[in-house]
Amino acid sequence: MKKNQPRFLPDRRSFLKGFSLVLGSTAFGFPFFSFGSCQKGGGSGTPAENPGAPGGQGTAKKLGIALVGLGNYSENQLAPALQETQHCYLAGIVTGTPSKIDRWKARYNLPDKNIYNYQNFDQIANNPDIDVVYIVLPNSMHAEYTIRAARAKKHVICEKPMATTVEDAQRMLEACRQNNVHLSIGYRLHFEPFNKRVMELGQKQVFGKVQSIEARNGFDITRSNPNVWRLDKELAGGGPLMDMGIYCVQGACYTLGKPPVAVTARFGEVTHKDYFDEVEQSISWQMEFADGVIAHCSTSYAENQSLLAGKAEKGWWRVEPAFWYSGKKGETSQGKMDLPEVYEQVLQMDAQALSFKNNQTSIVPGEMGLRDVKILLAIYESARNNGKRVPIS
Ligand code: NAD
Repeated sequence: MKKNQPRFLPDRRSFLKGFSLVLGSTAFGFPFFSFGSCQKGGGSGTPAENPGAPGGQGTAKKLGIALVGLGNYSENQLAPALQETQHCYLAGIVTGTPSKIDRWKARYNLPDKNIYNYQNFDQIANNPDIDVVYIVLPNSMHAEYTIRAARAKKHVICEKPMATTVEDAQRMLEACRQNNVHLSIGYRLHFEPFNKRVMELGQKQVFGKVQSIEARNGFDITRSNPNVWRLDKELAGGGPLMDMGIYCVQGACYTLGKPPVAVTARFGEVTHKDYFDEVEQSISWQMEFADGVIAHCSTSYAENQSLLAGKAEKGWWRVEPAFWYSGKKGETSQGKMDLPEVYEQVLQMDAQALSFKNNQTSIVPGEMGLRDVKILLAIYESARNNGKRVPIS
């Protein structure tokens, strides 16, 4: 049984860490994934037309973001990125660890009135400095804090995976709808040039019809402390599939611009029983798409891997590493992918803030998060049932 105490993952940090430059990106969104807005009544109208909504003071205003959960991702990626964003800025923090407050206040010049804990968090409703709440907590806590943020009438960015159950994800969407706020997921790779190039190659059939996809993602958690929430089933909802495999699910879906119709899966062998007594060590699965394309995927907490590749009628592509924050490399059957390295979180949060300001559905909406939770849980269902084919409803 793992203890629920917060810990850093130094190995993962050094593994994923890198320096990124903001160089801009080409405009290629997620055209085949068009959802209704989380906003009641569709996504029309500007903030000026809806002055009661967060961010409704004109599009020039930078939206104030409050980070909820000041762990590794907030501290090392999101807060530094918010120093470079054009449409939003770090306005506040929500933390259960008082010892972090002075450091964050000093580093980011945060006023006391914009600092909350988990108990007084709901008072954020009365704070006009905060337009957006960004949930960066262990996975099973995403639902509670998204719903509380929505009730406080704040737009929400929620980290992946959106939730650990379909019911939670649906409750989150409903809370945002009822409170007339937008919900977007922290899917940073939709704003990253190499992954956007894969979307273009696959969805626009640059090399003809896609025939197969391969995706792998993982890191070695067994070199760090085992008492981490990622190995706690209740907090994480599962093992590497929920944390790292979700990138493969995303990668396969955005290569083709559509969700799968069915999945089959198998758990891998457990070689580190002291780490994996609650969640899987590894899992491999196939995603079957309507036109017969199969995506072969795997994820592991005992191996470093990061690949997204595809084969089409007249060519192929391979991005490796595909999912790290930086250092991506890509190649197609026509040669090296010559694409810039960007600060993904800057582009992601700016795009999300802009969509909130313009009252438009983000290209990574809560509905996409719900779709992915359904796929992840179907993969587990198949693995628990000896690889039976599980249709995606
Ligand atoms: P972390 O362990 O470094 O931080 C978790 C934070 O939650 C800590 O500040 C901790 O104090 C707080 N917390 C509150 N209640 C807790 C509890 N009961 N147990 C443990 N911690 C508790 O984790 P992280 O790597 O920052 O991940 C946080 C979320 O961000 C996860 O959902 C993860 O999937 C997501 N994430 C996304 C990316 C990305 O690239 N999009 C990268 C890393 C993490």
